[in-house]
Amino acid sequence: MDRVGEAGAVVIGGGITGCSVAYHLAKAGLRDVHLVEKGELTSGSTCHAAGLVTQFNPSPTMMRFRRYSIELYRALGVFETVGSLRFASSKEQLMELQRTASRARGIGLDVELVSGAEAARLMPAISTVSLYGAVWVPGDGHLDPHTATHALARAARTLGAHVMTGMRVTGIELSDRGAIRAVITDRGAIETEVVVVAGGIWAPQIAAMAGAQVVSTPVDHQHAALRAVPGHELPHDMPCFRDPDNLVYGKAEAEGVILGGYEADPVARWIDGVPWDHAGMSLPPDQARFEPLLRGAARRFPFLGEAGIVKLVCHPDAMTPDANPLLGPVPGVRGLYLAAGLSLNGFGGAGGIGRAVAEWITGGEAELDLHPYRCWRFGPVHRDHRYAAELAREAYRYYYLLRYPYDSDEWGRPRRTSAVHTRMQDLGAVFGAKHGWERVDYYEPGRPWRRAGADQRRFGWTRPPYFDVLAEEHAAFRERAGIIDMSSFGKIEVTGKGALALLERAAGNLIDRPAGSVVYTQLLEKDGGIAADVTITRLGEEHFRVVTGAGYVNTDMGWLRLQVRDGDPPVELRESTKDFSVIGMWGPRARQILERVTEDDVSDEGFPFMHARPIRIGGATALAQRVTYVGELGWELYLEPAWAGQVWDRLMQAGRASGIRPGGYRALDSLRMEKGYRYYGTDLTLLDNPLEAGLGFCVHFEKPDFNGRQALLAARERGLERRLRTLEVGGEDYQPIYGGEAVYRDGRVVSRLRSCGYGFTARRNLAYAYLPMDLKPGGTVEVEVFGRMVPAVVTTDAVVRREHVAS
Ligand SMILES: Cc1cc2nc3c(=O)[nH]c(=O)nc-3n(C[C@H](O)[C@H](O)[C@H](O)COP(=O)(O)OP(=O)(O)OC[C@H]3O[C@@H](n4cnc5c(N)ncnc54)[C@H](O)[C@@H]3O)c2cc1C
Repeated sequence: MDRVGEAGAVVIGGGITGCSVAYHLAKAGLRDVHLVEKGELTSGSTCHAAGLVTQFNPSPTMMRFRRYSIELYRALGVFETVGSLRFASSKEQLMELQRTASRARGIGLDVELVSGAEAARLMPAISTVSLYGAVWVPGDGHLDPHTATHALARAARTLGAHVMTGMRVTGIELSDRGAIRAVITDRGAIETEVVVVAGGIWAPQIAAMAGAQVVSTPVDHQHAALRAVPGHELPHDMPCFRDPDNLVYGKAEAEGVILGGYEADPVARWIDGVPWDHAGMSLPPDQARFEPLLRGAARRFPFLGEAGIVKLVCHPDAMTPDANPLLGPVPGVRGLYLAAGLSLNGFGGAGGIGRAVAEWITGGEAELDLHPYRCWRFGPVHRDHRYAAELAREAYRYYYLLRYPYDSDEWGRPRRTSAVHTRMQDLGAVFGAKHGWERVDYYEPGRPWRRAGADQRRFGWTRPPYFDVLAEEHAAFRERAGIIDMSSFGKIEVTGKGALALLERAAGNLIDRPAGSVVYTQLLEKDGGIAADVTITRLGEEHFRVVTGAGYVNTDMGWLRLQVRDGDPPVELRESTKDFSVIGMWGPRARQILERVTEDDVSDEGFPFMHARPIRIGGATALAQRVTYVGELGWELYLEPAWAGQVWDRLMQAGRASGIRPGGYRALDSLRMEKGYRYYGTDLTLLDNPLEAGLGFCVHFEKPDFNGRQALLAARERGLERRLRTLEVGGEDYQPIYGGEAVYRDGRVVSRLRSCGYGFTARRNLAYAYLPMDLKPGGTVEVEVFGRMVPAVVTTDAVVRREHVAS
């Protein structure tokens, strides 16, 4: 094998993403950055982009990516600022825009909601029929994809990067210890310790060369160039537009329009692999599939009915199951990074993504919350390409189509069912979906079971019709006993000589406690940011079980794997989710019920809070953990799935006299919020630390060393600037708050809502928000809810006392 060079890093893929990563690596001072492209630059999805870029996005991180990308393109002189309008062509969409505007303000983006008439003034070409309003973002615009990508590549070259085209990567060589050693190309080997896969729709195949998994599927996207219509020539500086109800977006070009959109029944192709020889050519377009979009566009621009198509472009982009990119280091392959799965975020995302990935590689602190984009968040369940493709297609379908916060995924189901699935069906379960699991949202007793889907479409932005059912489930847990299947909990076995040291380093709390202890802790980054929120049970001297949310198991396991250092004593991490069913039972009568089915001691003295013990129930041995997420006395029972049905039946039978009732995940939210319990990803993120989150009791500063210790000590010394607080929003009546809404004090935005839920015991709409320290219980703020200012009062963390926890 010829050796063609040595590189500080090899970036694979010369689309907008690869060019941005190469540029930012070179800018960060990394020497000999090589960008390798099998064809010419822009030989993938990049050359097919329509070139629109907007900052408007409900995700704080994506919004910041986009804002930075626009600044970068402007600095390179390749961005045309014409502004953009996002139309509401239905009342529901207007509310969605109001909600998103509030969320945008909550993260510091000032967007303007304008009336239909004002939108027509900004864009006289539109019809105002069924136009309810629009969001106007003056700083948005468009670019030419080819010019922008070449400009970035040129800037990278100027900073010393080597751009090598016509060179295909055919393999990745690893050392015996699983670290990157070289990239093999059809022209020879390039020695390097760092590889970034920015291969677009080819990324899964490239990453597989190093044994890594990339979960993305090529999903077709089409846009058309429509001829100018005499008398309706569009000015070149016309704002870009997006009309989600009509499923289309566009911009003016050659007095006509470039029109793209999101089909309702999208097509995934090359599910098992993209041909290597496919390059920048467009695929045969499908006009029939595009027709509904043309009709949608003609509703907003009636004259477009007369415009002929000059050209219809069809090409796939790499869609992930959640339409978020895949970024960062690949656990288990040292030196391998991903900047893939752009999911049609290409030009908006690429600038910020290039910078973030370069920061990751050069060791700088990533200043954004990248946890939703961690490339290792998908797991074994997503290894089935067909399943991943169904999720990707559905994510694409809802790119524009209004998806309400309580709606569930519908495609690719059922995938994973728990051992008590049929029992829950018999009880009238309404199943949602999480990380492939069918999980009960709530029960409709006496009605046939069903899978939830686009259910909220029926009731829109109003109180859910199953509100009273949730109240009853809630009351069972709070006042008697509730039972819930939690088999989807993510479980990770951490074993070996190095297990304790690894967990002590990663966790804020003290892990070195006697076997049988259960510890609630956050896993921390070096800057004190929260990487995960878990419980850790010590099962033996060198055996720990980390329990986390269903959707976080791969994220947390990968993160833990990345914490293992050279020279650490051996440690093994293994996912054991499917090995154990979990049944949770809580409520003041939980002990009474458990005592009826086991002879083991479950008294307060015999089985203290935050402990785990094996107990016998019938023929089964369950590992019972006395913990709580609902703030009531109770246990989680970990069982081999074969025993789960029997134990469920025994508990249900023994609980009948005590008024036991099954509940689902929706009630859980209401229960935990009344008690001040936090939820990772919403209340706790990489940008929040445990002291601010009110979780100082989980930080064991007496430990001599753990991630984030210095940073948290310094933060404590300086004094905190903000604290997660519980808010009561409005009065007793249900408020449609879903999270992210802007919080105001004296007319100024001071925060945004995190978790939201109705507390059925407190009879209040509850929400969490990080607030300035001087806003203490009793303080008042306002929350922007669909354009209205709703008064809110700061209250104690727990609005219902945690009185049953330790009784
Ligand atoms: C029709 C269409 C319209 C779009 N419109 C917009 C828009 O208006 N705005 C927007 O922001 N986004 C848009 N997008 C999305 C955007 O184009 C993509 O998200 C983005 O271009 C992806 O860029 P990338 O660099 O990640 O991948 P790609 O552009 O696909 O680049 C991957 C590169 O890797 C190279 N490669 C693959 N395998 C190898 C190998 N083995 N060795 C070396 N090189 C290899 C390929 O040749 C290719 O050049 C659109 C996408 C499509 C399909």
